Amino acid sequence: MIIGACAVLLILAALIIGQARALARCRFWCKSCGTLFSLPWTKLLFRQHVNEEWRLVCPCCGQKGWCQARRPGKKEGVR
Ligand SMILES: [Zn+2]
Repeated sequence: MIIGACAVLLILAALIIGQARALARCRFWCKSCGTLFSLPWTKLLFRQHVNEEWRLVCPCCGQKGWCQARRPGKKEGVR
């Protein structure tokens, strides 16, 4: 019973961390200063989000707001 609960928690943690790590490859667009920035996955854990908009603090201007995630796509071609 307890082992089962631990396994579920571990799987959930792996999913959350996996999502955060995938997100760390994205860049976020600050609407206040227009900067594209990326964040380490540890800072992306437990963030509020609606679709592709994430509530983050911009490292450039320090504004807390909704930042649009830009997935690493074929269009940009830069790493
Ligand atoms: Zn900014």
